[in-house]
Amino acid sequence: MPVRSNKLSRERECEIVELAEMHADEACPSGAVDPLAIFSNEEVPVIFGSYGEGTFDGMLEFKAGKFAAFCNIDRGNEKGTARARFTLAHELGHLLIPEHRLALMNGTAAHSSRCGMFDGAEDDEEFEADLFASNLLMPARRFELAAKKLVSATPIKAALSLKEQFKTSILSTAIRYGEHRTEVVALIYWKDEQISWRRIQDAFFYQHQFRKWKLDKVSQLPPDCATAAALAGSHSSLEVHDSVLSANFCFERVAMGGHRDLILREEALRLGSHGVLTVLSVHPKFPTTTPQSVTW
Ligand SMILES: [Zn+2]
Repeated sequence: MPVRSNKLSRERECEIVELAEMHADEACPSGAVDPLAIFSNEEVPVIFGSYGEGTFDGMLEFKAGKFAAFCNIDRGNEKGTARARFTLAHELGHLLIPEHRLALMNGTAAHSSRCGMFDGAEDDEEFEADLFASNLLMPARRFELAAKKLVSATPIKAALSLKEQFKTSILSTAIRYGEHRTEVVALIYWKDEQISWRRIQDAFFYQHQFRKWKLDKVSQLPPDCATAAALAGSHSSLEVHDSVLSANFCFERVAMGGHRDLILREEALRLGSHGVLTVLSVHPKFPTTTPQSVTW
């Protein structure tokens, strides 16, 4: 499933980004942001428990006039993990975005969420909570300063460094970092031998018209490409595989050798048993006029 493109208005997006940054700076002005500290400041208890694999990652409940948050360890949300931190930051979005909080207080049923990093954000409320979570854990100004120091690193290697600084998952960090690097064309997440989601950056989607992704199945991949190597590799491998592809090979309706047939760097990294992350970017040895709509 493709990641849903952002349908929020620019004003609403800015409002949520600023709200998240304000809470991050208030509670944790330096170092990694701790969602549990913010729950504590809000006097909302957080309960880690076993609630089953097929249920939810996090839940925010308003009962008898009080909020409580639940974090499901059966879905990998053990205390202190990057996944739990994102889940809790998402639930903080529902607590601290005024419209979400009011809806819960006005009698909406307990809100349960699946940890999505935008991939399950089918409605505005979930998308807003994911946006809040990303900007709470990676506050805009702090992230921008840290990211600027890594422009000479490849996109995945830069994201790996940033995730250590912000104590975030590689997926949420790579998605966020991709928004800052003008040469990043697309992010693809492979799971169970096929694409789980893909995200073509707006600038390339609109300016270069990279609209339709060609390669949906592992069997369509060249055997020597970075993604195939990462998929075939050990689940414990931390190697970043690197190869070169042409845009014509990846996207529909791109003429071979034409001006849109960019030479792309393909980086791929295995994420344990979960799947493989691929990041495509304009190859630095074959630069082109990159779209200008993405800025720092
Ligand atoms: Zn939610």
